[in-house]
Amino acid sequence: MSDQYDVIVIGGGPAGYPAAIRAAQHGLSVACIDDWKNYDGSHAFGGTCLNAGCIPSKALLESSELFHRAQHEFADHGIGADNVRLDLEAMQKRKGKIVTQLTSGIAALFKSNKVDGLRGRGKLLANNKVEYTPVEGDARVLAAKHVILATGSQPIELPSMPFDGDRIVDSWGALEFDTVPEKLGVIGAGVIGLELGSVWARLGAEVTVLEAMPDFLAMVDRQIAKDAERQFKKQGLDIKLGARVSAASVDGDRVKVVYEDKDGEHETTYDRLVVAVGRRPYTDGVLGEGTGVEVDERGFFVVDDECRTGAANVYAVGDCVRGPMLAHKGTEEGVMAADLIAGEVAEVNYDVIPSVVYTAPEIAWVGKTEEQVKESGRDYKTGVFPFAASGRAKAMEQAAGMVKIVSARDDDEILGVHIIGPMAGELIGELVLAMEFRASTEDIQRTVHAHPTLSEAVHEAALGADKLALHAINR
Ligand code: NAD
Repeated sequence: MSDQYDVIVIGGGPAGYPAAIRAAQHGLSVACIDDWKNYDGSHAFGGTCLNAGCIPSKALLESSELFHRAQHEFADHGIGADNVRLDLEAMQKRKGKIVTQLTSGIAALFKSNKVDGLRGRGKLLANNKVEYTPVEGDARVLAAKHVILATGSQPIELPSMPFDGDRIVDSWGALEFDTVPEKLGVIGAGVIGLELGSVWARLGAEVTVLEAMPDFLAMVDRQIAKDAERQFKKQGLDIKLGARVSAASVDGDRVKVVYEDKDGEHETTYDRLVVAVGRRPYTDGVLGEGTGVEVDERGFFVVDDECRTGAANVYAVGDCVRGPMLAHKGTEEGVMAADLIAGEVAEVNYDVIPSVVYTAPEIAWVGKTEEQVKESGRDYKTGVFPFAASGRAKAMEQAAGMVKIVSARDDDEILGVHIIGPMAGELIGELVLAMEFRASTEDIQRTVHAHPTLSEAVHEAALGADKLALHAINR
């Protein structure tokens, strides 16, 4: 370990570790400092995404989906599966194995790219110095020509409903249950609430989701959100909108929850409660005196479009800066910062960042919702294709949902695409690329899509925008 680097990255999550790797690919000397601590006290690179978020949740979403399908759908395929039983311990072990494989993969990538992965706390000091406090041993001061802050975010903990790590948990705790709660309460019908609510509902819990806002998935296109709400309710999720939770506390082996809706105040109890009311930037204690990096009123490091902070040669990327808290947005910002440091031209197209909710069915979108386009005043057309008319979706027994495309009438530009249905998160990739290349709706219409695939639904939605769908009634 040296005391002097070209680049020091503070934070080894999905924004920080790719930044470190890219900087090393440019031939720069790089250290990445990370202080993640697992429940067992062990350290691993990868941050929330790999250790406690995206990856373990996807592992459990996949397993719980299979369990659910085996119980409820195999018979439709002519497969008898009467004795399906849950081995939660094995399911959790599998999840843990995937996480370990991927996090040790980062350590291996650091080694092969000659990145010094340093375990411990990093703190930016004035003049591009970084105080490094290792997990064991004394703090020392390192110097860097460039610093990238990638310190991520953490779950919001409300004083009226403190986490106890057992009965009242955050999103990470909700991935670690060793039994299926009989009655699970979830506060917040955001992405986390819905994903985790789905996992435990499929494994047999009676799940109630309490959401303060009157609209379901307010950031999603209304037509898609309405369909999602209908499908989730049909699956048995009890979603209460306009229900603001004011307090929650542990009462023996139950959790008491007080919430208010249009009918007044209610008290209810659950076996366990997941509080998923958002995340906040994790920027506390990262800055020493006189660094020149500004922090806004919500705790985010202030940056420009190129992720430059107010301090010379100091960048900040990922969840600790403005914009959606999405791993892939952080990754692209980290890579951009490393490329800029190396003198390359680089940018992130913030208008074309895909979002995916990994429920079943998945929800994915890119660009503007129909409501946003309407509000912009631009004349537009829409094409909607239901998966019920897709041969592949029917063969998969997953024919609920739709693809919706919103395009401009004047120049045919694709303004937004919204999907609810099987593999929506994979299907959206085609549209992200199309929008990145400023493809027209006709470009999608004239592109050959393999048959029979789910991607034909994308093709048909594009055709539908001009009333040319071949397998649906054009309205
Ligand atoms: P969120 O902001 O998406 O949703 C939180 C919800 O909680 C909101 O709808 C809010 O109205 C509600 N809420 C807040 N206080 C409440 C109260 N007292 N009573 C009832 N409802 C209340 O936050 P999240 O779901 O916790 O996710 C955090 C961040 O992580 C988001 O930025 C999200 O995009 C990101 N994330 C993304 C993915 C993904 O891309 N698949 C997965 C997980 C997390």
